[in-house]
Amino acid sequence: MTAPRPVLRFAPSPNGELHLGHALSALVGFDMAERLGGRFLVRIEDIDTARCREEYVTQIFEDLAWLGITWEEPVLRQSLHITTYSAASDWLLKLGLLYPCFATRTEISEATETAPGPPALDPDGTPLYPGLHKALPKKEIAARLARHEPFALRLDMDRALDALEGITGERHVTFKELDADGNPQVIQMNPADWGDTVIVRKDVPTSYHLAVTVDDARQGVTHVTRGRDLYAATSLHRLLQIILGLPEPLYHHHRLLAGPDGHKLSKSAGDTSLRALREQGIDRLQLRQRVGLADQTPAGARGNLS
Ligand code: GLU
Repeated sequence: MTAPRPVLRFAPSPNGELHLGHALSALVGFDMAERLGGRFLVRIEDIDTARCREEYVTQIFEDLAWLGITWEEPVLRQSLHITTYSAASDWLLKLGLLYPCFATRTEISEATETAPGPPALDPDGTPLYPGLHKALPKKEIAARLARHEPFALRLDMDRALDALEGITGERHVTFKELDADGNPQVIQMNPADWGDTVIVRKDVPTSYHLAVTVDDARQGVTHVTRGRDLYAATSLHRLLQIILGLPEPLYHHHRLLAGPDGHKLSKSAGDTSLRALREQGIDRLQLRQRVGLADQTPAGARGNLS
């Protein structure tokens, strides 16, 4: 029997033009897939229908083709699979791990500001949810639902950790991070750092964390390659994987590219957009040089990761 082929993916959100940072991300994943003899997928993460635009989807495919990347069809578009995410959140609800939160942003920030002491922050630097609607009486929940008040579903982190402990015997998670030589290092993290995070948004019936976890499993992704800005989020993804009984992929979080001002590149950074670079006549090799991958062609002898 032959071993199943590794599966890797690039999962952009079409809410702006791709820039050099995305090129690095896509190429790191694609190069690794080539080295491993694996499959390479593109997934369009377009759950945020208010911010995502069709023209950016078209441009993503043009940019990737220009980079010399090939991928399998059909491409999964998250906006077409909302029911799958709902099935996962229904399951978490049944397990008693989610609760509705009707609070507005203003109510949440007021509650944070009036709490004594400086607020505890999540790994992204956002104050942890101050617990406002964590213990709403059933009657009040029913009344608010009857009034059609919009709500998010938040993870009850204490209960989720209880569930985790019931499965693994631990209240932390581990994952395997591939180092620069491709060797797995076991990393231990505390999902509790995220507090009662949103699993189903008010405006969209899922969230990045839920959709990415469900899709990486559904698509059989074996190696998750993405930027270090998502490193801490891996603890939440592992927590959800374990509770939902999904397989554990390997991870590689690559370095981030900084703009000339030293800040992380953003989608509004016009002159580093791949479209702008393409229009300036830059070729693929020069592009690889710009992102620091010039000596790492996919078929090259060097196996180093970025
Ligand atoms: N869609 C995410 C982004 O564009 C990436 C998700 C992932 O790779 O896990 O930042």
